[in-house]
Amino acid sequence: MERYRRLNIKLTPQRLAILKHLEGNKAHPSADEIYKSVKKKYPTMSFATIYNTLEALKEKGNIRELKIDPAKKRYDPDMSPHHHIICTKCSSIFDVYKDFDIRLPEETAGGFKVSGKNIEFFGTCRKCK
Ligand code: ZN
Ligand code: MN
Repeated sequence: MERYRRLNIKLTPQRLAILKHLEGNKAHPSADEIYKSVKKKYPTMSFATIYNTLEALKEKGNIRELKIDPAKKRYDPDMSPHHHIICTKCSSIFDVYKDFDIRLPEETAGGFKVSGKNIEFFGTCRKCK
């Protein structure tokens, strides 16, 4: 509870339920999956509340929005630097904790000072292959 106060968003019981669902969640759930799960305990929960809460958390830098799944946005509470791999059959997303030493040659960086990178891998997971 205390650590959630630092998030700088107004804490309603519904928002707390969403935060608790996300905490330590490694599944990279979509808004719809979060909705279905949190609704079991909070039947009055609306999809708009889920979506608005996710947007607020994202804006405050508490969660990451992933675009690796072409079908839907996925959310990740793990803000530590890491990359992702997605299964093209079942859309499971796994974390890749490795720092790849990739540098953009100056002539390809378009004058940018590069501050980060985000690598998306895809393939077939252990269950699907
Ligand atoms: Zn799979
Ligand atoms: Mn992740």
